[in-house]
Amino acid sequence: MLPNGKRNLHGGRHNHCITSPVYRQKVREMNTLLAKRYGSHPGVILWHLSNEYGGACCCDLCRAKFRDLLRERYHNDIKELNHAWWTSFWSHTYNSFEQIDPPMDQGEHSVLGLVLDWRRFTTANTADFIRNEIEPLQEYAPSLPVTTNFMWLFGGLDYNQISKEIDVISWDAYPRWHNEQPVYEVASETAFNHAMMRAFKRGQPFMLMESTPSQVNWMPFNKLKRPGIHQLACLQAVASGSDTVLYFQFRMGRGSFEQFHGAVVNHTGRDDTRVFREVSQVGEMLKDLSQVAGSIPAPRAAVIYDWDNRWAIEDMAGAAKEDKKYNETCIQHFRAMLRLGEDPDVISSTESFAGYDLIAAPMLYMLKPGVAQRLKEFVAGGGVLVTTWLTGYVDESTLAFLGGFPGDGLMELTGVEASELDTLYPGQSNKVLWSGREYRAAEFCELLTLRGAKAAGTYQEDFYAGQPAVTVHPYGKGMSVHIAARVEEGCLLDIYRDIFKERRMGGEPLPMGLEIHSRINEEKRYRFYLNFSEEGVTLPPIPVSCRDILSGKELAAGDAPELPGYGFMVTVEQR
Ligand code: ZN
Repeated sequence: MLPNGKRNLHGGRHNHCITSPVYRQKVREMNTLLAKRYGSHPGVILWHLSNEYGGACCCDLCRAKFRDLLRERYHNDIKELNHAWWTSFWSHTYNSFEQIDPPMDQGEHSVLGLVLDWRRFTTANTADFIRNEIEPLQEYAPSLPVTTNFMWLFGGLDYNQISKEIDVISWDAYPRWHNEQPVYEVASETAFNHAMMRAFKRGQPFMLMESTPSQVNWMPFNKLKRPGIHQLACLQAVASGSDTVLYFQFRMGRGSFEQFHGAVVNHTGRDDTRVFREVSQVGEMLKDLSQVAGSIPAPRAAVIYDWDNRWAIEDMAGAAKEDKKYNETCIQHFRAMLRLGEDPDVISSTESFAGYDLIAAPMLYMLKPGVAQRLKEFVAGGGVLVTTWLTGYVDESTLAFLGGFPGDGLMELTGVEASELDTLYPGQSNKVLWSGREYRAAEFCELLTLRGAKAAGTYQEDFYAGQPAVTVHPYGKGMSVHIAARVEEGCLLDIYRDIFKERRMGGEPLPMGLEIHSRINEEKRYRFYLNFSEEGVTLPPIPVSCRDILSGKELAAGDAPELPGYGFMVTVEQR
């Protein structure tokens, strides 16, 4: 990676590569100077490392370091690497680690294990560089926590790994408001990202590091935030567990790349603009909500989202050449639960499942060591697991599990064997009959053989009409639900509604656009009602008597107040 985030994939030596000892030393010296000068300054409460890490480098230093990582990963045994990467296929067998080059622009891309391990190396090398940045700070400003700003579902680094290097999670949220999607859809995608950020460090608030008060300058179309959406978006970050709302940028610069990026103060320098007024309203609102700081969301559900899994699916040569929609599918499961009043965490498969009642693991194609066993223990102990097509096909090296999918013993838990995977052409569809209702299924339809599970939904068309599409399998004290096709969102909503009803989670589907989030501390629960619709909505009955923090009004259990379009309410109750 280059410090400016540009890619250097053509090889050659680069003095500004993060692997370069010269560059690393310069960074240490700079951070030593800064830490000595500002480390004990009372105005400095947090240390922001480099900005928005990303990019990969293939210079000879990086290539050598990549080979070192491979030697370590494969116990200095080239045979072990050849097996993991299945290099005998197409005669790719390596005779020594020295022969291995990264998947450069003109390099090798068909060895899937090589591509995946390169992505892992890029994360590991960035983490190593971060530690190099932090060390002088720890020496001269040991009490200062450090952070760096993450980005929207960024594909270049495994943020689960990077998050372990820093003390506080922060991220830059630039949703594409008012694009061709409905506003509520953009809102729930944003909520998914917030839920991922907060779950990197469970039990700890995160920070909204960057947001724009109006528009950005770098998207294909830079639309203005419509009146009201800014306040609502800021509140959504807080509702999801952020303790800050920060801006990029305060004042528009006169020149260069981001001169037209939204700012609190524009080129007029005045405070009587629409944007400045809306920013002031947010400031007033945050003052009123100061008691929320330090409280945390405590969701009962989680969606598994894994970078290794994402990369393996992206690189997989099968199912479909086009986008296999991993991100989209994870967000759809999240959105279905959000509509039902649950606000799931988004966690990696290697994080603890403790404290959750339901885990959704959409398209968990790769099962890392121990994950299948931990999922079994989770369900045996009373949890609910929801899986989908493309579950448990490969191990951490992307080698297919032998003996049927899902592999690594997960078939015993799901009670189904995924015998075949049908990929439909755009525009084609099948139907799934579930609980007396018919839903559209498209893109991916997995054909199942029951291995103990009960068919709860069936395909209605094609040669697999009548065969299971949704299955349920009781296991220990819990239950495993498998959804074999890419069904429409209404189907996910109804499936989760039935599971939730049985588990006493969530509630009836909320009006379209309404989100409910909550944060708790030892004494209090804060509920956030956010209306991401232009139309007014009636809230579901208030569960217990509480106070509307922003208006000061007392509310009784059973009250059902109205919210105007883009309206919101935050209540506080005793726990
Ligand atoms: Zn390099």
